[in-house]
Amino acid sequence: MTRIAIVGVAGRMGRTLVNAVQQDAGATLAGGVVEPGSSLVGTDLGELAGVGRLDVTAVDSLEAILDDVDVLIDFTSPQVTLANLAACAAYGKAIVIGTTGLDDEQLAELDGYRDRVPMVFAPNMSVGVNLTLKLLETAAKALGDEGYDIEVIESHHRHKVDAPSGTALKMGEVVADALERPLKEYGVFERVGQCGPRSDREIGFATVRAGDIVGEHTVMFATEGERIEITHKASSRMTFAKGAVRAARWVAGQGNGRYSMQDVLGL
Ligand code: NAD
Repeated sequence: MTRIAIVGVAGRMGRTLVNAVQQDAGATLAGGVVEPGSSLVGTDLGELAGVGRLDVTAVDSLEAILDDVDVLIDFTSPQVTLANLAACAAYGKAIVIGTTGLDDEQLAELDGYRDRVPMVFAPNMSVGVNLTLKLLETAAKALGDEGYDIEVIESHHRHKVDAPSGTALKMGEVVADALERPLKEYGVFERVGQCGPRSDREIGFATVRAGDIVGEHTVMFATEGERIEITHKASSRMTFAKGAVRAARWVAGQGNGRYSMQDVLGL
């Protein structure tokens, strides 16, 4: 039985994760962490998540519970995640990181823990999205440089704070790697005013933010006479939460290293 603690347990993903851990026969909820000083300290995590009393209460100090935890699941913000990684290294614990929006410096800092912590880091924990990444790699390799314009379009709810989504960037990276077109050079993230026609090799990104959209991603390969669109639509956060719990069970048995959902799923 893998003992899991959730950081950011009061958040949208945190509450869904409580539900997902409850539904998983191989995992048990060992704790939940809220922001320091939060009025939710002491609240029953099951009641917080709307799944009935669980007799595990929210704390605001990770260190207070880490001894009794196998794996941490963290869906918070970049700075909080990096602090939690340091705690995992100090206590010899594994971590599953769903947080997105890390800049290059923060990604380098995260990567620095690969020899000290078993971690799964994935901008999207859904099994379907990770299969989609594989399909995109196949499509990009098959279409190659045969004149297909590539565009990544993503839609999310009005509360999302980073753009494009971590998943859209990951999809762009997979295509860019397959075509040997580094995103830093070929990614186009903004078109406004007299920006001229698109170039042949660019990979364009477009972002929609509206209402309660859980997460939709389309990668379009368009040429004269045809268009291929590979789309993934998430209809509930449960898909990310279930993937994260699966990753937690998997990483509990791994040595130090930075793993992806592709590793977890054996894709
Ligand atoms: P949210 O704002 O609803 O939740 C974040 C929570 O973290 C908040 O409740 C906040 O109070 C809490 N928090 C902040 N500082 C904290 C601290 N020091 N200790 C404990 N808790 C703290 O956001 P969300 O929609 O749940 O998303 C969180 C992150 O997960 C975002 O980066 C989002 O992009 C990402 N996300 C990833 C996936 C994936 O599959 N990888 C899926 C959905 C969301």
